[in-house]
Amino acid sequence: MSLRARTYSRSRRFVTLTHCPLCGYEFDRDESRPDHLADHSPEDAGLNPLGEIDDDHDAPLFGEVTVRGE
Ligand SMILES: [Zn+2]
Repeated sequence: MSLRARTYSRSRRFVTLTHCPLCGYEFDRDESRPDHLADHSPEDAGLNPLGEIDDDHDAPLFGEVTVRGE
């Protein structure tokens, strides 16, 4: 589990990222999560390298779209 949720008085709920979802690194209590995540590259999340776009990036995800009335 990489998230910890705590509910405080007045039903205020805080969710804390305890482990990096990309590499499993365990964060210290007050360590900056955004700083760590920003050090990762898109490939770490299974994405294309920065600036590299697939040829079919704009293809429909679920086939052709049919518009009523046409
Ligand atoms: Zn990481």
